[in-house]
Amino acid sequence: MTVPLALPPNIEPKTFFEFVNEVTALVEIENIRIVTSTDELDDGSYLNQPRTHDPHHILDKDYFLASAVVCPRSVPDVQALVVTANKYKIPLWPTSIGRNSGYGGAAPRLRGSVVIDLGKHMRRILDVNVEGAYAVVEPGVTFSDLHEYLVEHNLRDRLWIDVPDLGGGSVLGNTVERGVGYTPYGGGWARINWCKQQ
Ligand SMILES: Cc1cc2nc3c(=O)[nH]c(=O)nc-3n(C[C@H](O)[C@H](O)[C@H](O)COP(=O)(O)OP(=O)(O)OC[C@H]3O[C@@H](n4cnc5c(N)ncnc54)[C@H](O)[C@@H]3O)c2cc1C
Repeated sequence: MTVPLALPPNIEPKTFFEFVNEVTALVEIENIRIVTSTDELDDGSYLNQPRTHDPHHILDKDYFLASAVVCPRSVPDVQALVVTANKYKIPLWPTSIGRNSGYGGAAPRLRGSVVIDLGKHMRRILDVNVEGAYAVVEPGVTFSDLHEYLVEHNLRDRLWIDVPDLGGGSVLGNTVERGVGYTPYGGGWARINWCKQQ
């Protein structure tokens, strides 16, 4: 196994590899991708954002750099990943769609963190409650996905999503960032509280 370009602070390669082996053995979790060279740092595109670094970097391209990227498929995957990271004291950096372009995207603020790409596989809309005007979604659900769901289920006359400019960003990422949309209730705290139309 090759040592990553950026190890987490105070973590020896041996400890990092023990963590990687344990994570790789977890059922359902894709093989973890270790970032070993700046040649791998593809800036991608709007539809294909990099998870390794900030494509709009102001400092060096490898300044905010992940040691590895892992893509869980389920809540138990995420739980097992967090438990394992805690055991080895490996810092994690969760990201959903990674489209927060210009604000760092999916790049970890702590160099050498392991990026958890929650948006790649976890893309289900679990519940839409019309009376309560709320939705339960996985991290990879975008505002556009939710809109399409409302259209498909003929709910557009009942619920109104408070969408920011970036319809292709995740509902969850925008909520944790205290995003703001364009409805009367578009406060910076309530991304998945929709507006009921009169
Ligand atoms: C052109 C443009 C226009 C925009 N306009 C608006 C606007 O009008 N209103 C507005 O509010 N925002 C706006 N934004 C910001 C953008 O909408 C949100 O930041 C976006 O919705 C975040 O979604 P994402 O999945 O891309 O986030 P990501 O890039 O994946 O993550 C953003 C941040 O949230 C954290 N995060 C993401 N998912 C999780 C998670 N599951 N658990 C814990 N932490 C997580 C990440 O660590 C990161 O710090 C705009 C951005 C762009 C590029």
